[in-house]
Amino acid sequence: MDEERARARIKDLVEIISHHDVKYYVEDDPEVTDHEYDRLMNELKALESEHPELVSPDSPTQRVSGRPVDEFPQVEHKVVMLSLDNCYSPDDLREFDSRVRKWLGEEPVEYVVEPKVDGLGIALLYEGGALVRGATRGDGRVGEDVTSNIRTVRSVPLKLKPEGGLRTVEVRGEVYMPSKGLQRLNEEREAEGEPVFANARNAAAGSIRQLDSRIAASRPLDAYFYTLSYSSGRMPETHHGCLDAMKASGLRVSPHTRVFGSVDEVLGHIASWESKRDGLGYDIDGMVVKVDSLAQQERLGYTAKNPRWAIAYKYPPKQKVTKLLNVVFQVGRTGALTPVARLEPVEIGGVTVSRATLHNEDELRRRGVMIGDMVLIERAGEVIPQVVRPLVERRTGGEREIVVPETCPVCGSTAVREDGESVRRCVNASCPAQVKERLTHYCSRGAMDIEGIGPALVDQLVDGGLVKDVSDLYGLRETDLLTLEGIGEKSARNILDAVKSSMDRDLGRVLHALGMRHVGRTTASLLAERFGSMDALKAASVDELSKVEGVGKVVAESVRDFMVDEGNRALLRRLSEAGLRMGGVPKADGPLVGKTFLFTGELKSMSRTDAGSAVESLGGRVGSSVTKATDYVVAGDDPGSKLEKAKKLKKAVLDEDAFLDLIGRR
Ligand SMILES: [Zn+2]
Repeated sequence: MDEERARARIKDLVEIISHHDVKYYVEDDPEVTDHEYDRLMNELKALESEHPELVSPDSPTQRVSGRPVDEFPQVEHKVVMLSLDNCYSPDDLREFDSRVRKWLGEEPVEYVVEPKVDGLGIALLYEGGALVRGATRGDGRVGEDVTSNIRTVRSVPLKLKPEGGLRTVEVRGEVYMPSKGLQRLNEEREAEGEPVFANARNAAAGSIRQLDSRIAASRPLDAYFYTLSYSSGRMPETHHGCLDAMKASGLRVSPHTRVFGSVDEVLGHIASWESKRDGLGYDIDGMVVKVDSLAQQERLGYTAKNPRWAIAYKYPPKQKVTKLLNVVFQVGRTGALTPVARLEPVEIGGVTVSRATLHNEDELRRRGVMIGDMVLIERAGEVIPQVVRPLVERRTGGEREIVVPETCPVCGSTAVREDGESVRRCVNASCPAQVKERLTHYCSRGAMDIEGIGPALVDQLVDGGLVKDVSDLYGLRETDLLTLEGIGEKSARNILDAVKSSMDRDLGRVLHALGMRHVGRTTASLLAERFGSMDALKAASVDELSKVEGVGKVVAESVRDFMVDEGNRALLRRLSEAGLRMGGVPKADGPLVGKTFLFTGELKSMSRTDAGSAVESLGGRVGSSVTKATDYVVAGDDPGSKLEKAKKLKKAVLDEDAFLDLIGRR
């Protein structure tokens, strides 16, 4: 295609895809199938790689780009970002209302009420409709320029839709992490021996302040916008008018915003959300009440610290006091001993809580908790509840010190605390507790994705002496599995099929599955991308390893230590002899990223293994049964019961031709 036509087509594609991004990520109302979206994206990528000079910064292919930075430049906000005054009771809010009405001389007032999302406040600057800057709130006057990280949040439009009439504007909002995403991220971090995020706000802030935007891109972030703080054009007359214009421009605005004419209605609305907020899927810590008319806002003005026309009504935190009955130490994959508090059951926000995390030995000491203490427990979102602090004033003298064991509670080996570490670890690599955790991690969805092997089966496999390390999975026979309780012929065959299909997983997944310390999913794919094969990684020096962007010295040393260990080398040899490919450069940015496929029946043109490799080489993944996570079911000749299940769950079913189309083989 000549340059002129390429330029026109790229421009069209950028507009079409941006439109569909808004439909999908902002309005939750997709107009095209994922397949069609992927096709457009692939066409754009292909054109851009032919004509790199035509790639524009607002192209949807440019969300993740640029190299890590050493620090964020400081930027001054166009309009100072003041914080809101807080209130905690209906009486406080009535007082706010009478202050407002007094100031305005008894004229009618309308209030806009919107959920206060618990995340990180940001300000975005759009010039001529294009996103040019994203900054943190900072001290309200000067924030940090985190544009490259903000761009990775898919619900943030890189370009505003012209329909909204906004061109050069500053908008404010909140970047947050949905509860499910936080839960998953914390599970991964805990398994890797990394500190977990205490709440969604810390997780969002920690992600947006990453110096490497690829890490931010890997975090499940979302955003809502709630203020139009500057516009080059005419400002609407009301706050809700601003929200409408923002929404029409493709900015994500909370669907739970309401306008009321009296403080009683406002209070009724706030009260009704106090219990409903648990079902939102993200944390809110209150409701924001704003005077709707911008003219009235201007007349009300500001105190030294806060606007007089807005207030945040804070809900009480989800905390309760209960008794700490005991502390048990669990042994993780890396041998780390994690203290877990057993509690007298207590109900917090509709959920009965009987255990809470104490994170690690240092945290235990820092919080100064004793067995028998009355403790304050907090539950935020769907995160594991945590012990905030003991109520020292309620001690009776009968409390006992918590003793951190010096031997592993599972295998009895020494538990050592090394310099610079916050945890004690069991030194025995064949400790059954560690072996089980490693196996469970290896088989988990994010790692080798071996369906059917979860913690319960792992217990049986290890306790029955059938599996001593992950390579033994590949030597399992049907007759072995049939000796286990609750395993029939059918499930035995399914398990063996799932084990077999895991042999094709790419290098990135294998590296992640091996569970090296400090090597999570993102780091594993970076290493796989850079080194391309297990042999190259085995030969890599700490120096070479730390040259990979996003891999620091600690990670490099951890990888090197793993690779030179005789036991690990033997394990890698056994895995390769068992038939694991461990090859292929994974496509972290393939068109099928995030899509899960399931195959049923025979394909005519290729084996299922090849079809699976094709999907993975485009960034997708292959499952072994129909679940909620399945995106496409590919049905060949003589499909099994999976097809019926797929139809029942209304999954997209592709025949062989449609599949070949999708992977570009036709
Ligand atoms: Zn042990």
